[in-house]
Amino acid sequence: MLKQKNLIFVGAPGAGKGTFSSLLLERHPMAHISTGDILRDEVKRDTELGREAAKLMNAGKLVPDEIIAGMVRDRLTWADCENGFILDGFPRTIRQAELLDEALKSLGKQLDRVVYFKVDDQTILKRLTARQNCKKCGKIYNKLFMPTKVENICDDCGSEVFQRPDDSLETAKSRLEVFYRQTLPLIEYYSKKNLLLEITELDKDRICEILSSELE
Ligand code: AMP
Repeated sequence: MLKQKNLIFVGAPGAGKGTFSSLLLERHPMAHISTGDILRDEVKRDTELGREAAKLMNAGKLVPDEIIAGMVRDRLTWADCENGFILDGFPRTIRQAELLDEALKSLGKQLDRVVYFKVDDQTILKRLTARQNCKKCGKIYNKLFMPTKVENICDDCGSEVFQRPDDSLETAKSRLEVFYRQTLPLIEYYSKKNLLLEITELDKDRICEILSSELE
């Protein structure tokens, strides 16, 4: 079992937060809270929040802090979070981090580790624009690095894979710019709290090894 179990995964879009969440979850059952996935579900269900969020997401911009932090606070009250959680893609601003601190305090929980996936810009853009997601099960592929066995068909469930609208080159560049301006300050924020674990671009097995040895 993981000892350090309440985790945040930070990194530019395409840095591997989702992929490594899945790998860690295969070994350790815990809640996976991806704010991007929650928002995409709202968009799919065509809710009021989903319609508003879609405009911002398609432009590569962030959804307002208070809305997203409220969503995460509610999600943290679910029973599965008692086994620990990975916050994947949240917080993305200092304000969100402060709101998270307040929420955790009121729920009697604390953070154990913040893992920062540090990847260079060229790799990010190459990866993002080649990324594909399964329409049904959400599995992440990459046309260059991790292609589906049959073109455009998910290996696991046989459904079609597609490119997220916000993974186009233009939007990917805006998202990267937003990451540097609004999210990167979190590294110092969590470093001061002694919670940071920085992982640079390495192969997949090595990252799993590091995550397991650092967190167990
Ligand atoms: P992701 O799948 O994590 O890359 O998120 C996709 C998009 O959802 C982002 O580009 C934002 O528009 C929105 N989003 C996800 N998480 C957050 C967050 N913590 N704060 C604000 N917007 C978010």
